[in-house]
Amino acid sequence: MAMKINRIGVLTSGGDAPGMNAAIRSIVRTGLHHQLETIGIRQGYAGLINDEMVSLSSRSVSGIINRGGTILETARCDEFLTEEGQRRAKEVIEYHRIDALVIIGGDGTYRGAIQLWEKWGIPCVCVPATIDNDLNGTDITIGADTAINTALEATDRIRDTATSMERVFVVEVMGRESGYIAMQVALAGGAEEVLVPEREFDLESMCHDICAGASKGKRSWIIVVAEGAARAVDIADKITKITGLETRVAVLGHIQRGGSPTARDRILATRLGVEAVKLLLNGEFGKAVGIRDGWVISTDLHVAIKKKDQNRDIDYFYKLMRDVT
Ligand code: ATP
Repeated sequence: MAMKINRIGVLTSGGDAPGMNAAIRSIVRTGLHHQLETIGIRQGYAGLINDEMVSLSSRSVSGIINRGGTILETARCDEFLTEEGQRRAKEVIEYHRIDALVIIGGDGTYRGAIQLWEKWGIPCVCVPATIDNDLNGTDITIGADTAINTALEATDRIRDTATSMERVFVVEVMGRESGYIAMQVALAGGAEEVLVPEREFDLESMCHDICAGASKGKRSWIIVVAEGAARAVDIADKITKITGLETRVAVLGHIQRGGSPTARDRILATRLGVEAVKLLLNGEFGKAVGIRDGWVISTDLHVAIKKKDQNRDIDYFYKLMRDVT
């Protein structure tokens, strides 16, 4: 028999991602539907340690489905990596008589949840939210679609100016270890090249292609670079040196994290929030919710933190790029 849960806690942790608010709303409202009380924990694991709690009613989550960021705020918390920090978190959870947690974030956040559940016996379920879409156990994470669309809109604007003058634009997008955003933006934005951290790249050969295009009258190029592959300024400098063409750089930075979530992210967050509460009610702890082939699924947290094998997707994207450029 599943343990009786009356009060749940919810927190957002790690990098913020558009759609986190929609997830919080979904969790609170689903909880109420099942007569659960929900306590919001501010600033991720730091809020657990520092006892930063806020009671969440249906009204406290009204009007947030369309807002970027997270009303609970988020944080990276080194103290939570320590035994002492985790012990303190457990004490605070028990003090507030919180029976279980829904934890929203990326893979670091999942690791924290594994500690809470396996070492300290705090029932946890995780919800994937990170713009990088690098989590195993889900086809797509909350926030990735909005970040891609934001970066795409900026790239489209850059294309307008690039085609007006003969120039090579190097656009740097987020993705320290994952080229997911870069690949999606490159394909949707009609970029000529994409550089991702998962693949080596040959700058000489790229410059050769640029020169060949220029000799046939091509006037503009967009090269999308994931921040983890190279710095856009370095790539631009090298292109100018090798080709003699003028280059410009746009580093999109944190604008990719902000803004109102897309419909896709809001719907994803809503579906995953509902499922997270259901898992807790069914006593299925130590799991992450996700989406696979359009269906909501759950995965053991240990599987969810394994490095996502994106090789097939990356190969497919490169082939598509080649076919259409
Ligand atoms: P993003 O993908 O957006 O960076 P994330 O969840 O991976 O999000 P991290 O900064 O890696 O972000 O992790 C968030 C927090 O989770 C950390 O600040 C720390 O408090 C906790 N955490 C990370 N790794 C562990 C671990 N091994 N054990 C316990 N807690 C951890």
